[in-house]
Amino acid sequence: MPNLNLGQTLDHHIGGRSHPPSSGEYLDDPAPATGQLAGRIARGNEADVEAAVAAAQAAQTGPWGETSVAERADLLDAVADAIESRVDEWAALESADTGKPISLARSIDIPRAISNFRFFAGAIRHSRSDMFPMAGALNYTLRKPVGTVGLITPWNLPLYLLSWKTAPALAMGNTIVAKPSEVTPLTASALAETLTEVGLPEGVFNLVHGLGPEVGQPLVAHPRVRGISFTGGTATGARVAGTAAPLFKKLSLELGGKNASVVFADADLEATLDGVTRAGFANQGQICLCGSRILVEESIYDEFLAGLVKRVKALQVGDPSDPATQVGSLVGQAHREKVESYVALAREEGGTVHCGGERPGGDLAAGAFLTPAVVSGLGQDCRTVQEEIFGPVVTVQPFADEAEALALANGVRYGLAASVWTRDLARAHRFSAALDTGMVWVNTWLLRDLRVPFGGVKESGVGREGGHLSLEFFSESKNVCIKL
Ligand code: NAP
Repeated sequence: MPNLNLGQTLDHHIGGRSHPPSSGEYLDDPAPATGQLAGRIARGNEADVEAAVAAAQAAQTGPWGETSVAERADLLDAVADAIESRVDEWAALESADTGKPISLARSIDIPRAISNFRFFAGAIRHSRSDMFPMAGALNYTLRKPVGTVGLITPWNLPLYLLSWKTAPALAMGNTIVAKPSEVTPLTASALAETLTEVGLPEGVFNLVHGLGPEVGQPLVAHPRVRGISFTGGTATGARVAGTAAPLFKKLSLELGGKNASVVFADADLEATLDGVTRAGFANQGQICLCGSRILVEESIYDEFLAGLVKRVKALQVGDPSDPATQVGSLVGQAHREKVESYVALAREEGGTVHCGGERPGGDLAAGAFLTPAVVSGLGQDCRTVQEEIFGPVVTVQPFADEAEALALANGVRYGLAASVWTRDLARAHRFSAALDTGMVWVNTWLLRDLRVPFGGVKESGVGREGGHLSLEFFSESKNVCIKL
């Protein structure tokens, strides 16, 4: 059974077993809500990446390469069952490592990880391949694994995102070297143990802990790693792309966002206020899809702003392990300082901070907490409006008409997601089509079907994952043409 306790010292997981770091060094992993140690992790380096890639390569040519779709699907279901049998413990571990409310880890992060494994088990069981008959010949398409792939994930949704990549990569028969964020590594190690426990052959899933430049960079640069699925910031994504492109690797980049929630005057006001508040502050605003720019039609602007501030002030900031907590700790002290610097910048840029942006005292004083902030009065060119803050800070801007709303919504370098709030169905279709984003929600936010394309445009990423697109990313298609 995987160890789901806090305070462990975690080695790498290479070749199906625990593998101490060749450096002999370990990194502290503090729990952000308390400052106490959540665990210690191996400090990986290039030699560890080399060992992990060698194990993955050996596994690719072993029995794993001969497994059937049915066997791999059963294995993914077994992972889902194993996580599901201890949901509360997984949720407690994820909540402690990230600072996110236990209610969120319990209702979103861990259930989604379970669904990811079940979904891709079902997807390969029901997958089909193409066949193209022609005069005197027949073409059919095989899908082969890419080989050894590197999975690099951020700290905001640790198990949720690692499982979103691991499940389709295994489904298609690849071998994996994963590098989670060193800030939130605990559930990744538990996943590695779970995979071994359910019978994944040794070397198929390898995990190397450590820092981006010391582990992520050599993984991306490794010539025998044939695909990289990366989720993280845009600046890191640019470095990853620069390293991977000359090696002709398959590359999927899911990057940052500065997403708009666009509120028209005809929207259902109460439901929209609830939805926009959730979009702004879920997971302390640390979700790439969060609606951190709220655009509101002029005629309802004052009423909407007042309603928003009232709701945000009422959000319960507190101990993440308390089921009543709605806003937990940010992921760490350094990240809190970055978010605070944006609240200060908003003031310098002439904005009004209506609430939040403060460190709560009392029992929360030792953690990386920050009260949720609402800022208005900023122009479109302000850095606070343009740059990804990735914390509990939203800006609110008025617009006169649909054309101005579109110009503001599209007027950033990112293009991940948006939400549109209106009762006018024709406008919902028209506006959704005109937005420069990979995803749009209408009168809702973060309603996800695992079959749909996921990803962004502009500086929010390259490529799409989700459903059959994930299966395509983690495989190479091969056409066979037979003359009849
Ligand atoms: P990050 O700093 O870019 O890190 C992401 C991952 O890349 C981490 O594991 C990091 O390791 C690693 N890394 C750092 N430098 C690297 C290098 N040179 N080569 C290879 N890997 C390297 O992002 P983050 O701060 O963890 O996460 C927040 C960002 O992720 C935000 O911008 C957010 O919008 C984005 N995000 C996007 C999506 C999406 O689906 N589009 C989803 C979630 C988050 P270290 O932790 O050791 O630095």
